[in-house]
Amino acid sequence: MTVSEQTLVPGAGRTAAPPRLGTVVMKFGGTSVGDPERIKRVAGRLVAAREAGARVVGVVSAMGRTTDELIGLAREVASRPDPRELDMLLSTGERISCALVAMAARELGHEAISLTGSQAGIITDSVHTKAKIVEVRATRINAALDRAQIVLVAGFQGMSATRDITTLGRGGSDTTAVALAAALGADACEIYTDVDGVFTADPRVVPDTRKLAAVTYAEMLELAAAGAKVLQLRSVEFARNHGVRLHVRSTFGDEPGTWVIEEDEHVERAAISGVTHTVEEAVYRVQGPTPAVLFPALAGAHVNVDTIIQTSSDVIVFSAPLEDRGTTAGVLDELGASWSERDDLGKVSIVGAGMKSHPGVAARTFTTLRDLRIEPQFISTSPIKIAFYVPHGEVEEAVRALHAAFELGSDTEVRRG
Ligand code: ADP
Ligand code: ASP
Ligand code: MG
Repeated sequence: MTVSEQTLVPGAGRTAAPPRLGTVVMKFGGTSVGDPERIKRVAGRLVAAREAGARVVGVVSAMGRTTDELIGLAREVASRPDPRELDMLLSTGERISCALVAMAARELGHEAISLTGSQAGIITDSVHTKAKIVEVRATRINAALDRAQIVLVAGFQGMSATRDITTLGRGGSDTTAVALAAALGADACEIYTDVDGVFTADPRVVPDTRKLAAVTYAEMLELAAAGAKVLQLRSVEFARNHGVRLHVRSTFGDEPGTWVIEEDEHVERAAISGVTHTVEEAVYRVQGPTPAVLFPALAGAHVNVDTIIQTSSDVIVFSAPLEDRGTTAGVLDELGASWSERDDLGKVSIVGAGMKSHPGVAARTFTTLRDLRIEPQFISTSPIKIAFYVPHGEVEEAVRALHAAFELGSDTEVRRG
């Protein structure tokens, strides 16, 4: 299975005792806090939860496209911005939104306090721009909650052992929220976003996509790893490892969204839960170093190798994020490998826990592609996933055709959770 390294949170265990009734962590993404009106709406939701008696922690992302704009700004002054300074810069986006939400909550007559990641006790390793949370020291949050304050935490950031500000990788506010939910023993972690939940495919690509009432942690890990960016991969790993109940739902309404749940053998599962895709990977073909030399070297440089697609006696093919391109090239050159890279391929993945008990999924996948004259390359599988690469221009067509072939559209019966 294509999951990144497991995250250990020794501090979560120490500070988690005993679970307090009625703590909720509510995370709001960039669209949810995109302008002052929306910020007031977020404050209204937090206040409503507080008035209903919950201990409320809000985690917020940067407003709208702030993070992209800050990255753009950095690139205007430096060709390869220094990672420490980049983190210093990017962390400001979330500081802005969390202070604004706290002010708006106060305006509604409630005690509220905003905290940066470091003030909130989020301790990470020192890998700038993709740091991992290693401990959550929740004393200050707990004290504020005990004073009945609504606590706003800036997502996506923490502090390393050397007291440097770090960020958690794109989409990292999801992981902040889940880590806090684990550390605080929260009843649930609610992820408010710009779609109604987790869908059978990206609603921006497939018109008749359908919201899932529930997905298992294993399915959500595969979906997130395969490009369904609605939850950061690491947040799902974290939720599974710490038993955090995750609810992905719309910031624009009150309808239930998608629950991420443990596998329940008694629930009848459809063969397929979703078809997902990504065009943000490069595929490398390497000759020279053995796998035992190559992969430790890449890991040492913090390259998140996604899929090791194929190995023969002297050729290794693997994929890695586009953003790690420079680092990957550096590692390969240092090893004296002869290698080539392709960035014209996208990955399509079909995910479903029911795949294990429904034969014929691979057959239907590949006959559907054949009928479209699409040739899949570098096929890889897990017990609940089939993935393959096609040229960028064919990705969306393949996603839509497979979504239809597996009858995932909105006119078919909604799956029970
Ligand atoms: P936020 O800013 O709230 O964190 P993101 O942009 O990170 O939101 O994630 C939500 C987006 O994920 C949606 O707008 C949607 O386009 C995309 N997405 C991709 N695949 C899926 C899927 N299977 N289900 C839901 N959303 C998906
Ligand atoms: N603002 C960060 C990003 O755009 C973190 C997040 O939104 O979760 O990636
Ligand atoms: Mg996100």
